[in-house]
Amino acid sequence: MAKLYFFYGAMNSGKTTRILQCEYNYKEQGMRAVIMKPQTDTKGNDKIVSRIGSSKKVDYLIKKDENIFDLLVNEYGHVDLLLVDEAQFLTTRQVNQLMDIVVDLDIPVMCYGLRTDFKGNGFPGARRLLEIAHELTEIKTICECGKKAMFNVRLMDGKVVTEGDSVAIDGEGKITYTVACAKCFMMKTRKKFDHPEIKYE
Ligand SMILES: [Zn+2]
Repeated sequence: MAKLYFFYGAMNSGKTTRILQCEYNYKEQGMRAVIMKPQTDTKGNDKIVSRIGSSKKVDYLIKKDENIFDLLVNEYGHVDLLLVDEAQFLTTRQVNQLMDIVVDLDIPVMCYGLRTDFKGNGFPGARRLLEIAHELTEIKTICECGKKAMFNVRLMDGKVVTEGDSVAIDGEGKITYTVACAKCFMMKTRKKFDHPEIKYE
């Protein structure tokens, strides 16, 4: 029986490399894996690029209100596996449609994405996947202190920022990201997570 999978991790944890590897393995076995990604901007960035250098054009960019189940039934023939990159940007409804694909069409769906944004808040797609996916796998990466990194930290021109949209808008200065363990994240962002009695000075 097919399953809905969610592989989650902080940025730069190697999610894209895994997608590319997975697609390659399927192709080598004569099977068809389709790679999709939610469209988050108007530039139509239809490539997925891994940090170790490989890249590939995605098969489809999912629009905000698009029904992924209908899309797969109407536009695609036989599919053995659906891979979704940047799955945190899906809507709750779209994640439900992925579960319909798994249950009704018996096609496994593997979603890859971030658990939280740079403020430590869950993305809608990630939240829904954490709620309903059959299997959850954390892809681990490491903080500068050596502990497991769980959080993403946004830097603007090299300085930590804690305000702004979850999805960065172009032209706001040079935005980059780094990852952090829980303690370093709180230290860097001075976030208290509703524990005002704890002082991080
Ligand atoms: Zn740390």
